[in-house]
Amino acid sequence: METDLESILITQDQIAHRLDELARQMVADLPVEDGQPAELALIPIMTGALVFTADLIRRIPTMLRLYTVAIASYGGATTPGQAKMNRGLTSLPKDLTGRHVVLVDDILDSGQTISMAQDHVRALNPASLKTCVLLRKPTDAARNVPAEYVGFDIPDRFVVGYGLDLAGYYRNLPMIAVPRPEVIHRHTGDQAARL
Ligand code: 5GP
Ligand code: MG
Repeated sequence: METDLESILITQDQIAHRLDELARQMVADLPVEDGQPAELALIPIMTGALVFTADLIRRIPTMLRLYTVAIASYGGATTPGQAKMNRGLTSLPKDLTGRHVVLVDDILDSGQTISMAQDHVRALNPASLKTCVLLRKPTDAARNVPAEYVGFDIPDRFVVGYGLDLAGYYRNLPMIAVPRPEVIHRHTGDQAARL
């Protein structure tokens, strides 16, 4: 699997260090209720945010509950498509009144996925709604979507690993990497030169 990679963009150690900081910041930002940090409702966007979320929640030492939303936008290709919610894989309470919510996703690219999730969660009336992404690409669209917690700003390359996939593969890589163009081509049939 590692021979399919052109370069490693972010190492395991860099991810671990940044997750410590993000978790600390998230807890510090919680309002205090009855002398304790308020309970957190963390909502990862499946499936890309799975690995990131699993590592993040184990660094948060306060009361939290986990829900999920499933939104897919790529459908196996490497350019943004139409974001679609999978209601069967979405587990949200009927309302989030009074709750402090953080949406979590792997990457902010066109912003479609996060925007759709933000709209959906906002309609459930949370006391606060913040967004956390591990990666952000330097697109205009990405900058226009509010995200309070950003792990890393990365170049506009197609990346895999640490939850991010190429045609469903490579999610289990422990680092963030750029696949070789011919690997992208093999999995998608896209014009490799364009990526
Ligand atoms: P957006 O809706 O912001 O365009 O894209 C967000 C979703 O597209 C992410 O949740 C992720 O699944 C996918 N995505 C965007 N850029 C990349 C990328 O560079 N690599 C991979 N593997 N997925 C990406
Ligand atoms: Mg995703």
